Amino acid sequence: MPQAIVGMELGDIRAALGADQPAFRAKQIYDAVYRQKVADLDAISNLPKALRARLAEEFPLGLPTIERRYDSIDGTVRYLLKLADGRTVETVWMPESRAREDAGDEADEHDWDRATICISSQVGCAVDCQFCMTAKLGFERNLTAGEIVGQVLIAAGTAPVDRLNIVMMGQGEPLLNLPNVLKATRLLTDPNGIGISPRRITLSTSGIIPKIAELGREEIRPKLAISLNGSNEEQRQAIMPITRKYHLRYLIEACKRYPLRPWEKLTFEYVLLGGVNDTDADAKRVVRWLANLDAKVNLIVWNPGPEIPFVKPDPERVAAFQAIIRKSLPCFIRKPRGLDVFAACGQLKRMELTQIG
Ligand code: SAH
Ligand code: SF4
Repeated sequence: MPQAIVGMELGDIRAALGADQPAFRAKQIYDAVYRQKVADLDAISNLPKALRARLAEEFPLGLPTIERRYDSIDGTVRYLLKLADGRTVETVWMPESRAREDAGDEADEHDWDRATICISSQVGCAVDCQFCMTAKLGFERNLTAGEIVGQVLIAAGTAPVDRLNIVMMGQGEPLLNLPNVLKATRLLTDPNGIGISPRRITLSTSGIIPKIAELGREEIRPKLAISLNGSNEEQRQAIMPITRKYHLRYLIEACKRYPLRPWEKLTFEYVLLGGVNDTDADAKRVVRWLANLDAKVNLIVWNPGPEIPFVKPDPERVAAFQAIIRKSLPCFIRKPRGLDVFAACGQLKRMELTQIG
């Protein structure tokens, strides 16, 4: 099987080329792939012809291909990407334009100030949260570092990286694929390559406690977001079966020990499920759990999907919940994006939309 270049760090490229190539050749290739973002290795014009021919034969660039794209009315794009083994995974592009939003104008994909790219870390997910459509796929496989980075290269193209945010909140549980997620993070942040600031990359986990400590020991790592989703042990266990193994009490202890960088806060995500976890008492318990943590809370109104047995919370509940948390911690309500093309949180399940796209 030929080895994909996307996903290789500089040392990997050097090793793959072999000792007969001078070291600067690996640098030229690295620079072309990650900084210049060539679409084809043959376009690296400063390489000798013989080496280009060898690259063409032995090392495909290895980017995923766009199988389908679904364009939302709000400018969001959901990509269904095809990997080398034929499996597919989803990536979401979410542009924002301040001026346009102020004017109440419709979205235009070429007119944006900032964009968030939501990337997947696995094909499917093993974690089985009851409110999430990705869980219905089951777990298919881990993504390689190259497949994680490839999603950013495809969705962002040559867009300026200082206007991008990356969230590892697509399909999969990133902490169950930590080595590849870390390698992808090094590639995404390398100033000699893609060059996205680690402050602009966030990883979200359902709370795999031992891996949180492991992540904290890494020098180059994304910011950490934790899916809290319930205000007590029983609630979490009912909607997130994995929390029977990783208890809330120990999760909060792991968060207290987590070595935040000076500019960093922990983010807690909380999916509001109507009548399940959205009372004032729930909000007060959340505040108690998070006391003494340097944290903020993102509330996500549950996004519906076929065969998922929950209901949306009343808007009045969402406002009251936020108001209670806000007395103690910064608390935001995440705006749903791309609902019409099944691109919003928890909706990534390869939904086919024959009428659009
Ligand atoms: N597996 C990781 C990251 C992907 S899920 C995790 O669980 O954290 C990203 C976020 O979407 C999580 O906070 C999850 O709780 C939330 N989510 C899942 N299904 C959802 C749904 N149907 N509506 C709203 N948010 C959902
Ligand atoms: Fe997996 Fe996250 Fe969905 Fe849970 S919410 S099933 S961990 S993707």
